[in-house]
Amino acid sequence: MSNHNVLGIIGGGQLGSMLCQAAKKLGVKTVIYCDDKNSPAQNYSNNFICSKYNDETKIKEFANQVDVVTFEFENIPVPTLKKIQEIKPVYPDPNINFVIQNRSKEKNFINQLGINTVDYKNIYSHKDIDNIEKFLPGILKTTTLGYDGKGQYIISNAKDFENVDFKNEYILEKKINLQKEISIIITRYQNGNSVVYEPIENIHKDQILDTSKIPSNIDNEIANQGKKCAIKLANELNYVGTMCVEYFVDKNNELFVNEIAPRVHNSGHLTINAYNISQFESHIRSVCNLEAIEPVMKSAAIMKNIIGEDIFKYKNKEYKSNEFFFDYLKKEAKPKRKMGHLTTLEA
Ligand code: ADP
Ligand code: MG
Repeated sequence: MSNHNVLGIIGGGQLGSMLCQAAKKLGVKTVIYCDDKNSPAQNYSNNFICSKYNDETKIKEFANQVDVVTFEFENIPVPTLKKIQEIKPVYPDPNINFVIQNRSKEKNFINQLGINTVDYKNIYSHKDIDNIEKFLPGILKTTTLGYDGKGQYIISNAKDFENVDFKNEYILEKKINLQKEISIIITRYQNGNSVVYEPIENIHKDQILDTSKIPSNIDNEIANQGKKCAIKLANELNYVGTMCVEYFVDKNNELFVNEIAPRVHNSGHLTINAYNISQFESHIRSVCNLEAIEPVMKSAAIMKNIIGEDIFKYKNKEYKSNEFFFDYLKKEAKPKRKMGHLTTLEA
């Protein structure tokens, strides 16, 4: 297949912005499609289309302007992606979203490959609350549309289900004793070859990513096991583009896959400054079928997310030459909203 030089991106948040910046570097033009008129990514794209994700006319107009389409968040309605696919290639393939948009389908897929996730049980109605002891204390998570801990409840005993709204379907996951959380960014190219970044160590606060650092402090065995899983998952999904696998390491040094993000990922932002090639550039190279570059870590690094009003402390500040501040240019600083990040390179 030939190379592409106009890339359509669905979604217009910070991930879209950083994809546009990477595309520009490679001479690839970008069109953002987003339902938010204040979308920050329009500051970096060549063109911007603002409409609902189910607006067929606008979606067609978008697809006709570009050579290839990708997305920056996984919850785009699959029918929208399929409609685009009738007109232009979409990477990664929308069928992947069908699996990953649903936590139960996602975990089932992972387990079928012989890869461990935390034990879980589908909770679709009150009837399913029987025999849950082995999952307690647990975390109840909506099967769809959850992110940054939204749609999650801590469950210590059956009484805690009283506040649960059964309009949604859930999974109940055993709460494990975390030693560490890590993530692995992988980019799989159209010829089936993958490049894998080194594991990143993540700390969450209030279920939102707070800091990410490389190199991660884990033993080689866990690192290799994680990389192998990531390659297997990407191959089995016939994935094209950059994705992220989030893992838990428990107190017994056992590795579990938590979830897969079929897109560039917050924990990979430090690759912009700490690697020869960022997760964003790798993604663009893959979906546009450009030459692959092997990622090489140039420096240890730590990334801190800047949430809500904290952003005002970081704006208009002087930074040292090893500090890289990214302002996502969001119009409003809401609590829990990711507003920017600071990457610090360490000697
Ligand atoms: P989201 O889709 O909102 O990112 P996650 O399932 O990744 O939700 O959960 C967010 C965070 O909550 C995790 O990164 C982890 O810190 C904590 N967490 C989630 N599930 C478990 C679990 N089973 N045991 C221990 N901690 C968990
Ligand atoms: Mg998560």
